[in-house]
Amino acid sequence: MTENTAPVILVVEDEPAQLELLSYNLSKEGYSVVRAEDGESAMLLADEVEPDLILLDWMLPNISGIEVCRQLKRQKRTASTPVLMLTARGEEEDRIRGLDTGADDYVVKPYSIKELLARVRSMLRRTRPGSVGQTLEYREIVLDPVQHKVTRGGQSIKLGPTEFRLLVTLLEMPGRVWSRDQLLDRVWGRTADVDLRTVDVHVGRLRKALREYDDRDPIRTVRGFGYALDQD
Ligand code: CA
Repeated sequence: MTENTAPVILVVEDEPAQLELLSYNLSKEGYSVVRAEDGESAMLLADEVEPDLILLDWMLPNISGIEVCRQLKRQKRTASTPVLMLTARGEEEDRIRGLDTGADDYVVKPYSIKELLARVRSMLRRTRPGSVGQTLEYREIVLDPVQHKVTRGGQSIKLGPTEFRLLVTLLEMPGRVWSRDQLLDRVWGRTADVDLRTVDVHVGRLRKALREYDDRDPIRTVRGFGYALDQD
């Protein structure tokens, strides 16, 4: 997992020792960690960073984790972001299980880090399958992120590292229309000083490589906006 393609996890926890422990273990697994200590900054960061997953503690000062979760699920930009709630055993657990909080999964404190990491991995398998080593397929295009191999119709396709990351991103959500800005964040990293036209250049290279043995263009240009892996 390179730094740029590592899934971003927003950890929301007000207890410093817990926050440190979670951040340490998630970073060690190769995830890129963003931290928040209260609900307000969690919501701001979620909107700004668009994390791949949010680890959200129930007991937070001011706004509770449940309320944060409800609000995140109401916002367009974060509505589909998976939320893993951390909760104490007992009443909270019952309420998470019983109520329509919008949380996608929950872990009961005290949790084992191993179990928590397994849960994170399993949630990311659905939303960022390439990042956890799943083979990605769309039509006749197959990408193996572990062996770093791409084929189309069984023919081996040679890609540069940037084109490879671009294809991983597109294959993780076929049909999704990506803005050039979003691709820039995802493929080059949020802090990269790269021109938007660079995205066009690399999409062009990816197209050319994919069409080497099959002339059908699997990438659709959405004029004035971006791209989608969306053949026909
Ligand atoms: Ca707490």
